[in-house]
Parts: sequence; structure tokens; C-alpha cells
Amino acid sequence: MKPFALHFDLETGKCGTRTSSKRYLSQMKGMYHDEGSLQKQLEVEDTLVYEFYELDMPEHAGDLAFGTSIIYPGKVGDEYYMTKGHFHAILNTAEVYFCLQGQGLLLMENTDGEWCVEEMAPGNAVYVSKGYAHRTINTGHEPLVFFWAFRADAGHDYGTIETNGFRKLVVEQAGAPVIIDNPNWK
Ligand code: MN
Repeated sequence: MKPFALHFDLETGKCGTRTSSKRYLSQMKGMYHDEGSLQKQLEVEDTLVYEFYELDMPEHAGDLAFGTSIIYPGKVGDEYYMTKGHFHAILNTAEVYFCLQGQGLLLMENTDGEWCVEEMAPGNAVYVSKGYAHRTINTGHEPLVFFWAFRADAGHDYGTIETNGFRKLVVEQAGAPVIIDNPNWK
């Protein structure tokens, strides 16, 4: 692959005229602890929860995959809009997130049960260590926009989180984000 440059809009996260991949509420079944609220909200509208701009980078160990994601503000019940979250298929691969706009949290946990939460705010870079599943959560009132880069062949394991969930959840209590144990964690 030859060197190249791409432009990302710092406000919106958009990448030129490319089209994004989109995740709607209907694609988030089983991800929120309050499935009843999800059903009720779906009867009203299948809202766009997040979208991302990814490149078709060759999945080679020496290449980097990078792009942007935009998570919209909102909640399902008391739980904020968030990404599904994933491990990398090659567990031994890290990732860097760089927040451009908005306010949020990056929730991470590894298979030993260690977990942590780092703040996503404009200018913050968060290092997702190898072996950690990661989920980004919009705790603010504006879109949460961030850039990311990881080893291009790392791949995504969504299934483990879809089946087990994260150990922790971020919910709103008295108008502020609070980290609680996931009652449905397996
Ligand atoms: Mn990742």
C-alpha cells in the first residue's frame, strides 16, 4: 500500500464523501440491560445510535486500520447510547482512541476480570491495552466523535460481548453517569 492522506472533519467525524456504517437501535437487541425499554423505544422509532467511517485497509499485520466513530446522545432506559463493544479477534492487539468532540467514557475489561473506565473528552487520547474488550459510551448531550487506529489484521470479536456482556454498565442516576455491576453479566 502506498502512502496516502485522508481528511476527517473534526466537528462531525465525517471522512470526505465516504458513507458510514450505521448501527440502529434494532441492531442493539440484547446489549442494554433494560430490554423492555428497548422494545418500547423501538415501537416509536428505530433511532440511529452510532455510525463509523472505516477504510477497506488490507488485513495485514504491518498495516493500520483507522477511522472515526460518532455516537449520538440518548439512552435506553437509564443506560446511555454506546457501541456494542468488542474484543479483537487477535487478542494480543491494542488500539488508540482520540476524542474529537463530545463527552463520554471508554469502558474496558480483560478476560482476567480487570476493568477500567477512561474519560473521553476533546483532546483525550485513550490507550486500549491488548486483551481488553472496549465499549464507548456517550454520557453527554452532543454527538461523541472520536478517531481510532489499530493493527489492521486484529479483527473483531463481537460474539463474546453479545453473549456475556460487560461486567460493568454505565447508567444515569440523578443526572450523572454512574458505573454499576451488570445484572445480566455471565
Ligand atoms: Mn477495537
